[in-house]
Amino acid sequence: MSNPTTPRPVRVRFAPSPTGELHLGGLRTALFDYLWARHTGGAFILRIEDTDQKRYDAKSLESLMRGLRWLGLEWDEGPDVGGPHAPYIQTERAAFYQQHAQMLLDSGAAYRCYCTAERLTEMREEQRRTKQTTGYDRRCRHLSPAERAEREAAGMPSVVRLAVPTEGKTTFTDLIRGDITVDNRQLQDEVLLKSDGLPTYHLAAMVDDHLMEISHVLRGEEWLSTAPIHKLVVEAFGWELPVLVHLPVILDPSGKGKMSKRKKVVEGKEYLALVHEFISAGYLPDAMFNFLTNVGWNYDPMVEIFEREEAIERFDITQINPKAAALPYDKLDWLNGQYIRQITPAALKAQLTPILSKQLKISEAKLSADNRLDILVPQIQERLKRLDEAVEWIDWAFKSADEIVYDDPSLLLGRKLDAAQSIAVLEDGAAVLRTIEPFLPDNTQAAFRERATALGVSAGGYFGPFRAAISGKKVSPPLFESMQALGRDEVLRRVQRGVEELGKMG
Ligand code: GLU
Repeated sequence: MSNPTTPRPVRVRFAPSPTGELHLGGLRTALFDYLWARHTGGAFILRIEDTDQKRYDAKSLESLMRGLRWLGLEWDEGPDVGGPHAPYIQTERAAFYQQHAQMLLDSGAAYRCYCTAERLTEMREEQRRTKQTTGYDRRCRHLSPAERAEREAAGMPSVVRLAVPTEGKTTFTDLIRGDITVDNRQLQDEVLLKSDGLPTYHLAAMVDDHLMEISHVLRGEEWLSTAPIHKLVVEAFGWELPVLVHLPVILDPSGKGKMSKRKKVVEGKEYLALVHEFISAGYLPDAMFNFLTNVGWNYDPMVEIFEREEAIERFDITQINPKAAALPYDKLDWLNGQYIRQITPAALKAQLTPILSKQLKISEAKLSADNRLDILVPQIQERLKRLDEAVEWIDWAFKSADEIVYDDPSLLLGRKLDAAQSIAVLEDGAAVLRTIEPFLPDNTQAAFRERATALGVSAGGYFGPFRAAISGKKVSPPLFESMQALGRDEVLRRVQRGVEELGKMG
């Protein structure tokens, strides 16, 4: 497939730092990498940027991979699957970065800096006090060979810094934003290699992008300000930057602030931001795939639902919109509802099982074998937007009759009926229920309608007390299927409880 943005074979990488849970913004970056790789027949690489050992969090690596796989973003090369450029975990690649730092030291593009943390703190405080811009003052850049030798002989720890040109300008190109130029005086002599021998992002990412033959870098807009440094680093090596595409930031639902991992309440409403939260809330991967594809890119303004293959076919990085956008969570819920209706009840049951298991505290094995779910799932399929809503719909079916709470006993009153009349309906129906054979929804419904007519009560008036007695709720799945799910004996126990509750109303 043709690729107008570079003559090189397409190789893209998702390069997260395992420092915390994967965020929806990160997942969107990975998705765009994946779409572009699949669109062009290129390779999608997962690289783990774990060189910041202070912030490393082993759990987040596992969860990150789970999140990507949940969305169906299988990588062609990466830590667990291997590939021609293994290893794909940066701490396992330290020797590469050290060699490359040495190349820059040898060419004079970088220098060793021996300044201690205390000196740097003092320097910064002094700069603040005298209202200068803060930043490294380049003291070690100007050391004489003798001064260097002295420090080396004394075994002083050092970092390697990039010697940024002190004059002139640096220009780089972003595919969707055009040329961006900065004055070199605004740049710092950034650290490339730390005193622990591990690289910073500026060195590690550039070396790996080069060695791994990355053709396009898709990353969040927050990295835009580092691009001039990256341009200078690759120039120092005599390489070229991959095609850069900085993806628009994602805003919180108010559209005012950047979506954050921490602050999750906006305008009084809680919103989800972490991928594992969306998974446990019961969003379907297909819905999320569809939704995120349209965050910063648009499949077709007239088409809401599309197949993954169709998105891959059309995806075009040149059409990514650089403008920040708020996430339309309502749209996600709507889409999720659409996808929930498309799957088979058996598939829906399988998706619901882990969520219900957690909430109802019943093992997944037990739930999978439970025919109450087989009966109720098709009844609620039309009504769900998020899978976790299923709990509210059907929790009553997994309680015992004694555990049903009648918070609002007035729900037990049939329409236009008082307590005594509602009791009469329940008792009339209970007698009917004992005789129905087989105990199936159509039979129960026909018998109930007949009895309602015989008693001169509307069907709604007759059904209402049963609905409330069974679930304790105002809204619940259709009555006769609910009865079937519970079984005759349990229904009768609940009807009895309804009678007792109504009795208390006097
Ligand atoms: N490790 C960086 C991050 O955590 C990657 C940025 C990039 O893709 O270059 O987001």
